[in-house]
Amino acid sequence: MNNPIQVTRSSMPGLDEYVEEIKDLWDNQWLTNMGIKHRRLEAELARYLNTPNIALFTNGHLALEYLIGALELKGEVITTPFTFASTTHAIVRNGLTPVFCDINPHDYTIQTENLESLITEKTSAIIPVHVYGNVCDFKEIERIAKKFNLKVIYDAAHAFGVTVDGLGVANLGDASMFSFHATKVFNTIEGGALTFADSSMKEVLNSYKNFGITGPETVEYTGGNAKMNEFQAAMGLCNLRHVDEEIYKRKIIYERYIENLNNIKGINLSLPQKGVKSNYAYFPVIFDGFPLSRDEVHDELTKQNIFSRKYFFPLTNSFECYRDRFTPDETPIAKYIAKRILTFPLYADLSLGDVDRICAIIKTSITNVR
Ligand SMILES: *Cc1c(COP(=O)(O)O)cnc(C)c1O
Repeated sequence: MNNPIQVTRSSMPGLDEYVEEIKDLWDNQWLTNMGIKHRRLEAELARYLNTPNIALFTNGHLALEYLIGALELKGEVITTPFTFASTTHAIVRNGLTPVFCDINPHDYTIQTENLESLITEKTSAIIPVHVYGNVCDFKEIERIAKKFNLKVIYDAAHAFGVTVDGLGVANLGDASMFSFHATKVFNTIEGGALTFADSSMKEVLNSYKNFGITGPETVEYTGGNAKMNEFQAAMGLCNLRHVDEEIYKRKIIYERYIENLNNIKGINLSLPQKGVKSNYAYFPVIFDGFPLSRDEVHDELTKQNIFSRKYFFPLTNSFECYRDRFTPDETPIAKYIAKRILTFPLYADLSLGDVDRICAIIKTSITNVR
């Protein structure tokens, strides 16, 4: 049996590089609460993402959850169910009501044609998701948000380093959330960040992630604890040095998949969008009219020790915890896609030989069925 191929593998710097980076933490023994590594990583990420305002968090989810609180959003928030649990939970955990808009079948981002019809007098914001790093229709979203005076927060967890017509996605909307989880293109082990347009938000967010404390004897907000610690930030400083090379390696793998799987009946690939510099975070494949169902392909690969992922499945509006409140029938396209999509193994050090082997299994599976 061949070695297992996981769907993803965390990027790590050399051990020596990390040890060198954390050495000075032993000099000042300052381990968290916005220390030197934290400040340096913020500065370097602002430069890398080409955006003026950034605040680091201990993970992407809490960044989003605290941002919704800090913006004092009320009532209803329009979003999509074709996302990770985090996006929907962040809305609900703030006591707000998610209103689910369907996705478009081309890039799986929010369908702007339907968006306006979901706006009510209770709507306060739109939280679209740059799924797989595909950039949402931000111009149309901005037009609608302006017209109805709504905030726009992007879940950009998948979109680290992505640019559209040369503009970094961190600059879209009122704010964007990035995840630096171990499985993402850029990681700080666990971690995340917010980028935002209004620079006065920086102090508010910094205080929100530190219990709402604003001074030695003042607590102005009901914040929580979501600070990134110095070891996370040090990991980020190391990984950031290599991220361009990692994205380049992902691109080669991505293109190899395309070469192998292009023009197979029943397999739909999502090609990079026009004007978008991708980060090649995922390789999603839709099985629609293929001799095997998505689930059968998944099981066939698993038998060969290759781990693909039904991502995103299930939709957030079909989670058990939301059973009495929402239904996937509201979003038929998302429901259709979620049933047919599979993301294939993709990480910087995946070998091209392994890519070919995975694709060969898919191709032979057709003949086996016949
Ligand atoms: C990873 C992810 C999150 C959550 O980020 P964490 O850093 O794991 O908390 C949110 N939304 C999407 C779409 C994600 O993929």
